[in-house]
Amino acid sequence: MIVSVTMNPSVDISYPLDTLVINDVNRCDQVRKTAGGKGLNVTRVIHQMNEKVVSTGLLGGMLGAFIRENLSKEGINHHFSDIEGDTRNCIAILHDDGKQTEVLESGPVISEEELVAFETIFLNLAKTSQVVTLSGSLPKGVPVDYYSQLLTLLSDSQTKVILDTSGDSLKCALTGEHKPYAIKPNSDELQALIGEKVTEDYTNLPDMLTHPLFDGVALIMVSLGKDGAFVKYEDSFYRVKIPTISVKNPVGSGDSSVAGLAIGLAKELPIEDTLKYAMTLGMLNAMEDTTGSVDVTQFNQIYDRIFIDK
Ligand code: ATP
Repeated sequence: MIVSVTMNPSVDISYPLDTLVINDVNRCDQVRKTAGGKGLNVTRVIHQMNEKVVSTGLLGGMLGAFIRENLSKEGINHHFSDIEGDTRNCIAILHDDGKQTEVLESGPVISEEELVAFETIFLNLAKTSQVVTLSGSLPKGVPVDYYSQLLTLLSDSQTKVILDTSGDSLKCALTGEHKPYAIKPNSDELQALIGEKVTEDYTNLPDMLTHPLFDGVALIMVSLGKDGAFVKYEDSFYRVKIPTISVKNPVGSGDSSVAGLAIGLAKELPIEDTLKYAMTLGMLNAMEDTTGSVDVTQFNQIYDRIFIDK
């Protein structure tokens, strides 16, 4: 089984508005409200692939209840820990030129007792699972090294942890005693981490990925959008090449790639197949309007067009 963790979920609201008029009333008749947050995208894609997944993290208030109800309706297993505060809303105003204006709430403040309660649920689920995914930002009140603390909790188990976060919480996890099994930065996140620019031809990636910060991490997948991915697995490098596709909405493609990595690791597939799973699900997500959603009927057709150079 795969456990997917979302510490700061949201109810994502989208308002399609041709023009947003400032200082006036904007009416909208096509509102969409979905359970959001990077970990919930991971969960949904794994579930759509018909693989066993349970979603956990922190939820509170009416929006927390909305997310639980939504997951149950979709037939997704979930076991979230209750918090006092209210789960947040994230609003995207979609403009007709394809751009969007976003209003992102920072979310509730989490207490120490709430974290302890979550850890009991987390450990029970995670220690008997093959793979755990940790995705996204940490809410207020949660220490910046919290992902590192979760890695320590799992250090006696065989569970493989995929960490997909950025900034200081990623840095803390990489400098902690117990490393994640895998990480999936995009090139901006990698640049921010190492303080060096990824060159346009990607030729400096092998050097960047041998940086001491990554010591002890078995699998590093740098996702490169339409250019596929560059990967370090143990002591080998892989360039993953993907075909050109017709893109509708690439938001959440990174999360879908994490779903693919998790499935490959849980099934103990060879590394090349695991990377192809990750790329295929990222691409299938980019081909859909809905964030964190894939059309599984097109899986084989895409999978067979991915090539890997070692
Ligand atoms: P997000 O933060 O939106 O989840 P990301 O920046 O973490 O995304 P990307 O590198 O954009 O991740 O995308 C992950 C994978 O999805 C890519 O490696 C690729 O397989 C696929 N993908 C994303 N965008 C495109 C695109 N425009 N064309 C083809 N494939 C894409």
